[in-house]
Amino acid sequence: MNRVLIIGAGAAGSVTVKKCLEEKDIFSKIHVASRTFKKCKELKKICNNEIEIHQLDADIVKDSINLIQKIKPEIVINIALPYQDIPIMDACLATKTHYLDTANYEPKNKAEFCYKWQWDYHQKFKEQKIMALLGSGFDPGVTNVFIKYASENLFDELINIDIIDCNAGEHGHPFATNFNPEINIREITQNGKFYDNKDWQIISPMSISKTINYPEVGEKKSYLLYHEELESLVKHFPEIKRIRFWMTFSDQYLNYLNVLQDVGMTSIKPLNFKGNKIVPLEFLKEVLPSPSSLSSNYTGKTCIGCIITGIKNGKKQTKLIYNVCDHKKCHEELNSQAVSYTTGVPAMIGAKMILTKQWFDYGVFNMEQFQSKPFMEELNSNGLSWNIIDFTPLDK
Ligand code: NDP
Repeated sequence: MNRVLIIGAGAAGSVTVKKCLEEKDIFSKIHVASRTFKKCKELKKICNNEIEIHQLDADIVKDSINLIQKIKPEIVINIALPYQDIPIMDACLATKTHYLDTANYEPKNKAEFCYKWQWDYHQKFKEQKIMALLGSGFDPGVTNVFIKYASENLFDELINIDIIDCNAGEHGHPFATNFNPEINIREITQNGKFYDNKDWQIISPMSISKTINYPEVGEKKSYLLYHEELESLVKHFPEIKRIRFWMTFSDQYLNYLNVLQDVGMTSIKPLNFKGNKIVPLEFLKEVLPSPSSLSSNYTGKTCIGCIITGIKNGKKQTKLIYNVCDHKKCHEELNSQAVSYTTGVPAMIGAKMILTKQWFDYGVFNMEQFQSKPFMEELNSNGLSWNIIDFTPLDK
């Protein structure tokens, strides 16, 4: 009997819950805990009362410990926000419970993300004989597994990598983010960063762009951003010479974002408002559409993949491994949009890898540290099929 505790009942968390329910032989009892209990209740209703629900503020470690001790899950799937990664890892350590998340830790008061804080837990997890799997979403997550697959099956040596992320969907709102607005806006308003010639290069936000031709979607302007999987991939594939991350944004999205930034609405510095302290970005999140509310009218597709140049049998080649996901199909299947779907499904698969011991070790791990084959097979059978094609490098 495998009990699972899923923390976070938002857009991506709901997808993970529904996908776990389809695998009752693996996830025999599903518990969901989230800060706003109303969302848990709504989810329970949608799931025909097949889940147990709990109110939890996962920032409070002792409350998470108490809940884990009560439920005794084999694994905790953290699909709340990056701020909760460290407190939930502390609760898992105290209760000797496996851990999985989809995004790396960020301190609330500083818009900065890096793996150091979580990698520092490796020895403690090892000593407690438990496992943590970091970044089991799509990017990070599936993109790391695509690169592992390329290193195992397509190339003798990896040289250059471009991770490309396109959302060519239309949700009908003038401005909305596809995952948690606060986390999304913090990510894209930071400086860009990429790895070239064994060194990190820093650029100002959105200052480098390229038109990329995405399969099934076409040409889209894409901006160079820093994304967390670059850090772990450079660590685990030290031969890589250059790795970059590109994401598409429409002109309309960027215009809105620039205005919001210019008037101070994306600031994370608390200010006094009528005697109360408020953080402008936290307030903005409250007035924007929630990512889970976008799905009903969403049309179009996402295309996320890795352009990989490497050497095979002495010859330089470039391949693209990618997935295309249709917003409308995600809505029909799970009442979700494609960005939540492509995050929530790999979280279920990652947990399945751990519980079936297909991926298993004690300590803290990134996705590319395990064999790609079982995960790639699960993607195909869980609505995220992938394809490999010859591709022209972005810089010819
Ligand atoms: P949502 O805002 O829709 O959901 C977040 C959920 O977490 C909400 O239910 C929220 O509750 C809950 N939560 C927030 N704080 C706490 C807390 N202290 N204790 C308990 N629950 C809490 O976001 P998404 O579902 O869009 O995103 C979820 C995660 O997925 C994020 O970490 C995001 O970075 C990650 N992600 C990863 C991707 C990948 O490909 N790897 C892509 C997209 C997202 P409340 O309702 O009270 O706010």
